Amino acid sequence: MDVTDRASDVEEATREAAIAAQLALARQPVRASATNCEDCGTEIPEGRRTAQPGVLLCVGCKCIQERMNRR
Ligand SMILES: [Zn+2]
Repeated sequence: MDVTDRASDVEEATREAAIAAQLALARQPVRASATNCEDCGTEIPEGRRTAQPGVLLCVGCKCIQERMNRR
């Protein structure tokens, strides 16, 4: 087995793993949006829930979370 064969073996294994990961992601159901913010309990407007499926936080808490993540 030469270097080229080994490289294509690695490439194939990597591609298969990537495909499997994508399939697993695609199979996950979209999480239902929360009706109330998980953090402060404020009701999340219908429009926000529709626009962002799986949303769990109100706009205010989302802003705070994003600011904390940036640090
Ligand atoms: Zn909130």
